[in-house]
Amino acid sequence: MIIMKFGGTSVQNEAAISRVIEIVRARLERKPVVVVSALSKVTDLLYKICDEAAARHTEQAKEHIEALRERHLGLAEELLSGTEFLDEAYTKVDALCQELDAFVHAVCVVGDLTPKSRARIISRGEVLSSTLICYAMNARGIRTNLVDAKKLIITDDDYLKGEPDKKAICAAVPAEIEKAYRNVEAVITQGFVSSARDGSTTVLGRGGSDYTASLLGMALQAEEVQIWTDVDGVMTADPRVVEHPVTLREIAFEEAAEMAHFGAKVLHPMTIEPAVRLGIPIYVLDSTHPDSKGTGVFGSERIPDGIKAVSSKENIQVINIFSTKMLGASGFLSKVFGVFSDHKVPVDMISTSEANISVTVDGGTDLSAVVAELSEFADVTVDRDKSQISVIGKNLHAEAGLFAALSKALGPNGIHMISQGATFINLSLVVDRSICKETVRLIHQYLFENHA
Ligand code: ADP
Ligand code: ASP
Ligand code: MG
Repeated sequence: MIIMKFGGTSVQNEAAISRVIEIVRARLERKPVVVVSALSKVTDLLYKICDEAAARHTEQAKEHIEALRERHLGLAEELLSGTEFLDEAYTKVDALCQELDAFVHAVCVVGDLTPKSRARIISRGEVLSSTLICYAMNARGIRTNLVDAKKLIITDDDYLKGEPDKKAICAAVPAEIEKAYRNVEAVITQGFVSSARDGSTTVLGRGGSDYTASLLGMALQAEEVQIWTDVDGVMTADPRVVEHPVTLREIAFEEAAEMAHFGAKVLHPMTIEPAVRLGIPIYVLDSTHPDSKGTGVFGSERIPDGIKAVSSKENIQVINIFSTKMLGASGFLSKVFGVFSDHKVPVDMISTSEANISVTVDGGTDLSAVVAELSEFADVTVDRDKSQISVIGKNLHAEAGLFAALSKALGPNGIHMISQGATFINLSLVVDRSICKETVRLIHQYLFENHA
């Protein structure tokens, strides 16, 4: 059995979905479980609908839902016209959009958008795409069953970023998939969508369809997990930032995890973990060039040392915590991190000195409560508009040219923080946001383009 996950751009229109169907057809003997994202930009639109609903902008919300409906109905026509499936698909898609409209309307009337309601709204993109693609697969001769992801991916009740309950998932998935596989050649389900133990809808957080794929891979002990996307695998840098990145044919699980965590959007940060525990390989593949090899993510023993990639998080903030009491005071660090953990604010980089701790967090995080609590026992400042740049690879300490390249790329620009993990998987710098992209380009040039 293999898991095949297709992202938003891979299912954005008729041509893309037709390619997906042929990719799946070519792999039917491997028993694919297909996981799809919402059509590209649909989840963004659903977030917008939530914001309009929260602001009680009934008309704007309605307009967006109408656009969503037209896009999906148009696609149903393109994919299914002249087939026996068109009417049924049309009715189904229309009903899903009407339900959404009624729900959003109710939220607008009440004027209170809870995380639970938000999750119901933003999960609708995957429900629509999977419904349509399932009809399209059947129409093109692949007998396919649609499985409700809410029966597969069970989480806690953090509605917008559900924490998967791996035990419950492993208990539910094999039987559900087996049941769905009766008399068909493929099954399809929604990425991103999950449910709390009481059955209410949750989602796995932005980009979470990759995570769905890897959780299913874990529960089914799949042969491999394939993440089909719009680029030829994991590259030495984000192709939207750097002009000539190169595809990495193989990387280690740990390297992929660091890259994803430190800004390489191509894989969801949590994707690696469930698969790595069982040693299931992950392949990142290009749905526009199905024959190219993409990237294999494997156990680190078969991956050579060396620098693999440079990635960045463009918008982060640095929190500086000063306290003279820190001197020799045991428990100070745990007190500080206790505050972050109590407020569920994830911390990325950390650096400490005698009387100062600096930590980085995502730029979009609201820090007011954390700062207020830390200020009770320390002086706190927050630096905004910073970026984090990370160089990732195995055993980086053996790379003699690394610091020379970094210092050349940075020129006279300052570094606000620097940290290197003990495992030598990444070396991260914090710089001003205004120089982030250019610095990434220069680092890439000096490390990978042989212009040093
Ligand atoms: P999908 O919709 O398939 O999930 P995403 O947009 O989430 O796709 O991820 C693919 C994008 O990740 C690419 O278009 C690319 O711009 C970006 N990306 C960032 N860093 C990298 C990298 N190192 N290698 C490949 N792609 C990267
Ligand atoms: N559709 C969701 C998002 O855009 C999940 C995903 O595509 O992975 O965040
Ligand atoms: Mg993605």
